[in-house]
Amino acid sequence: MPVLTRLIPSPVVVDIRSGALDDLAGLLADQRISASGKLAVALSGGSGRALRTRLAPLLPGADWYEVADGTIDAAVRLADEIRGRHYDAVVALGGGKIIDVTKYAAARVGLPMVSVATNLAHDGICSPVATLDNDNGRGSYGVPSPIAMVIDLDVIRDAPARYIRSGIGDTVSNLSALADWELSQRINGENVDGLAAAMARTAGESVLRHPGGVGDDEFLIVLAEALVLTGIAMSISGDTRPSSGACHEISHAFDLLYPQRAASHGEQVGLGAAFAMHLRGAPEQAGLFADVLRRHGLPVLPEDIGFGVDEFIRAVEYAPRTRPGRFTILEHLDLTTDQIRDAYADYAKTIRS
Ligand SMILES: [Zn+2]
Repeated sequence: MPVLTRLIPSPVVVDIRSGALDDLAGLLADQRISASGKLAVALSGGSGRALRTRLAPLLPGADWYEVADGTIDAAVRLADEIRGRHYDAVVALGGGKIIDVTKYAAARVGLPMVSVATNLAHDGICSPVATLDNDNGRGSYGVPSPIAMVIDLDVIRDAPARYIRSGIGDTVSNLSALADWELSQRINGENVDGLAAAMARTAGESVLRHPGGVGDDEFLIVLAEALVLTGIAMSISGDTRPSSGACHEISHAFDLLYPQRAASHGEQVGLGAAFAMHLRGAPEQAGLFADVLRRHGLPVLPEDIGFGVDEFIRAVEYAPRTRPGRFTILEHLDLTTDQIRDAYADYAKTIRS
């Protein structure tokens, strides 16, 4: 008999609202997550302390672990510390770094992981991928996606606005990544998972078309939901294809070539997406991207994040090497340095006018 449906790996609880943190203890007591109340909570030594003070009385069965940084070493250390202590689950309380370290550590010891995101900087908050710094720079590791996802809008509003902006760039870039995926389907016959594409596109379009901004709750809810949907889209496709294409290759190139000066992930992938749209011969889409990014205070030109034109061209040229095997508009066009220079000049002229 053919398979009638398929199960989607996804969190058993998604709680996005003001005050969600106050009910975290109740959520964790859910029998599906923690029957005994014995939990490991990972957080940063800096900004995490205030949250620990607030939550410790509500979680009497929790042990608290401070995570030093976003390296694979920190993740392995956390796994070693929590191993064999009979926890029901591991809770990550923090931003992307803490969540990625915790995802990896939880996978290593075979425990479910609860994601409590304190900012909306990127789509890793609910994804099956842990991005960690290692000896070779940065690596992406496949892990189970979180069993529960909590986003308290009161906490998000307290985080610097640049973290929200970064999340906007990351969700909008889905649309560029999907165009790359569909291009590869046309040229190479690569399979596009229609459900993963639908979720990633809905997430990207909802943020791109929303009239609100970082200061209003309706917009924050749409953005938070878009990040969660994007994470689930990655779980469905089994890779980062629905949310990562030329936009991300360009951003990875910035990270590798200029590690000390790189801007935030969302700033770089948003700029990369607008430029990739231009390369596709979609000037209206590129213009719409640029308008939306500008409206939210995100960069649209390399100079907006302190890079010269030559540095940007070098990053675009280097970009395909960051994800060997991934086919995007960059691999398709295979531009020479001079062609990239001409394309950039055209892009800058188009979005300035
Ligand atoms: Zn991303």
